[in-house]
Amino acid sequence: MGALVSANALTRYFDIGKDQRVHAVDGVSLSVDEKEIVGLVGESGSGKSTFGKTLIGLHSKTSGTVTYRGEQLPQKYAPADFQRLAVNMQMIFQDPYSSLNPRMTVGEIIGEGLKLHMDLSGKEVRDRVAEWLERVGLNADHMSRYPHEFSGGQRQRIGIARALILEPEFVVCDEPISALDVSVQAQVINLLGELKEKMGLTLLFIAHDLSMVRYVSDRMAVMYLGSLVELGKADEVYFDPKHPYTEVLVGSNPEPDPNLERSRPSTAIQGEIPSPVNVPAGCRFANRCPRVMDVCRNTTPELIPLKDLDRMVACHLYT
Ligand code: SF4
Repeated sequence: MGALVSANALTRYFDIGKDQRVHAVDGVSLSVDEKEIVGLVGESGSGKSTFGKTLIGLHSKTSGTVTYRGEQLPQKYAPADFQRLAVNMQMIFQDPYSSLNPRMTVGEIIGEGLKLHMDLSGKEVRDRVAEWLERVGLNADHMSRYPHEFSGGQRQRIGIARALILEPEFVVCDEPISALDVSVQAQVINLLGELKEKMGLTLLFIAHDLSMVRYVSDRMAVMYLGSLVELGKADEVYFDPKHPYTEVLVGSNPEPDPNLERSRPSTAIQGEIPSPVNVPAGCRFANRCPRVMDVCRNTTPELIPLKDLDRMVACHLYT
């Protein structure tokens, strides 16, 4: 199947005054095929969320392009672009506490997109909201309640219903379970998996839990300080990482299966991610890399395919 959404050299900087800018996303090229789940991993501050938001137009692009079904999307969305594209591209947000307006009822929150983007009567909107409340495991009579009356897991279900009621093709899931108790994380993941199958969704699944990303994703992309450093099939990247950053990221991520945990190398990640305002020359991971070489400090490695492997890696160990 072909690419549904493609970023090509996508860059998003934020100006912060005094000629300084945050290099949040720096030349990322990544495609998501139809009905595929691509997991995007990396530490906090790696630019994952900014990439997801830029991909669906919630941030304008500093440079580079995004195509959706082959159509190049605008550099900055006008209201009419949101109106047209929101039906196809949606986002499920990380924090189910702050992403729901506390002054709106659950029915108003979930039905808002329908009112904005579809020509439906009040009754039709209410019927669709009731149907979606049931689909995400809540009750139709929850419609008149407010977000504070629900648990974290229930609020994330409301957020999922809000994003999916327009029946988008592409959804960016931005750390959808990281604010939830471990006991409800699996329920939300299973719900997303069921809806993905039933609706034929294509997902970009952003998370910092690599074992969860491996579980849900077809491919895994690893991001470090605004750039992609590794891309490949999720299982292969997880069990046979090639980039030194992926190695330490996998090694420092607890594996829930004790048998798998014993068989994996354990590596603690050292040092701090550099500031995205003062991006280092050469390889961005050089100050933390256990295998750094002289060339790494002045020449930026390109993301290139590895010989005989279905894998892309940006590292001088392979050039
Ligand atoms: Fe380490 Fe050099 Fe590879 Fe960067 S390019 S990850 S510093 S070996």
